[in-house]
Parts: sequence; structure tokens; C-alpha cells
Amino acid sequence: MGECNRCGACKHVCIAFKRGVATGASVLEREDRFTCAGCWKCIEACPEGVDIYSLMMEARRRGRLPDSFRMGVKYILDTGYAMPMRGVNAIRKMYGMGAIRKVKPEVVKKLLRDVELD
Ligand code: SF4
Ligand code: SF4
Repeated sequence: MGECNRCGACKHVCIAFKRGVATGASVLEREDRFTCAGCWKCIEACPEGVDIYSLMMEARRRGRLPDSFRMGVKYILDTGYAMPMRGVNAIRKMYGMGAIRKVKPEVVKKLLRDVELD
């Protein structure tokens, strides 16, 4: 793996960068690595062969989970869903769909027993 020369090629192909999340010459300088979609376009574009995706994932492992993600994990642990599901059955009914089956919290807790938020 080569060294970053700050050419900027990776940021021009990065969908997260295009959404305005990233800053700096390289996607490696992004503040929020949790918006990476894992598309690997940056790796294809990099003339130095930098494995940007792996570096991004390592930064995720070392960094603190952003609050928005923590909230999603908490919802999953509490309810089995990543977001509030209030009103979803009314919407489904409008489209002729049946109600969603409720997830049993004890099953979710068993499946995710090793997940820790701190
Ligand atoms: S494309 Fe590669 S060399 Fe260019 S800024 Fe990105 S990581 Fe650095
Ligand atoms: S793998 Fe992540 S950092 Fe690389 S281009 Fe895709 S979204 Fe951007």
C-alpha cells in the first residue's frame, strides 16, 4: 500500500463526500467515518493504492459510535427495530398490506447479547 499524496481523486468519487459530509483533500480526512457506504470507489480511484476502506473501518473500530447510530442500536435493543415504528401499520393498511409482526424484545436481546454501547 502506498502513501497518500493528497491528490483528491478519492473524494471526487466518494458518494459520502458528495453529500457534503467529508472535508479535506482526501476522504481519509473525514470527520465522520460512519457515513462511508462501503462502495470501494475510492480504492479504485486512488493512484497510490491506498486501501482507504480498510483504514476507514479501522477508524470506526477505534472511534466512538456517533449519537445517531447509538440511538439506532438502542432502538434495536429495546424494540427490534432501528427506528420508531409508530403509525407504520396505518400506512401499510392504506396500501392493502397486513400489519407487521412485532419482534419479541427477549429474542432481540438474545441475538445481540454481545452488543455494548459503551
Ligand atoms: S486518491 Fe489516494 S493518494 Fe489521492 S488523496 Fe485519496 S488516498 Fe490520497
Ligand atoms: S468506500 Fe466509503 S470512503 Fe470510499 S468512496 Fe465509497 S463511500 Fe467513499
